[in-house]
Amino acid sequence: MVEELNREILTCARCHLHRYRKNAVPGEGSMKLGIMIVGEAPGAAEDEAGRPFVGAAGQLLTETLVRLGVSRGDVYITNVVKCRPPNNRDPMPDEVRTCADEFLKKQVRILGPGLVISLGRISAAELLGRPVSISREHGRIVDCEYAGVRFKLFLSYHPAAGLYGAEVKKQLEGDFRRLGSVLKLLPLR
Ligand code: URA
Repeated sequence: MVEELNREILTCARCHLHRYRKNAVPGEGSMKLGIMIVGEAPGAAEDEAGRPFVGAAGQLLTETLVRLGVSRGDVYITNVVKCRPPNNRDPMPDEVRTCADEFLKKQVRILGPGLVISLGRISAAELLGRPVSISREHGRIVDCEYAGVRFKLFLSYHPAAGLYGAEVKKQLEGDFRRLGSVLKLLPLR
């Protein structure tokens, strides 16, 4: 089912971002653990590969997951916006609106996660429906309802922020360690 939706993403021309892309990046992975990870938008490496989080930020994400005892293939990884914004600028509100209404909401309905990990401010704000300050709210686990689906939401820094600052990297790792200990207690599905 999600594959069918993802095929639609590959040829989407609903917003102008399709003009700049090499490849749309629908998402990949499995719902083996009931976990979805939602980033912001593809970067250059992802645009090239058509796969999410395969660049430097992806490397840090993969390492962080491994430390949790989770391999990439056990979770479903996607982004709020499926095409790369030019020069890696933040996606514009209208791009977020169009793409999330058309695709992220449907992915969440189809996949029915027990836990969603939002990476960065834009993802957290879309899922919670309000502005988010990640420096204030990172590490929180909150109840969330998005697209009519209820799940636990873990608010994380974007791993790219961890690449540029040692302090943020430490906080990100600490947050995920805490998530690891909570995960053992939560019934996810
Ligand atoms: N940053 C994101 O938010 N998503 C990706 O897929 C890669 C980098």
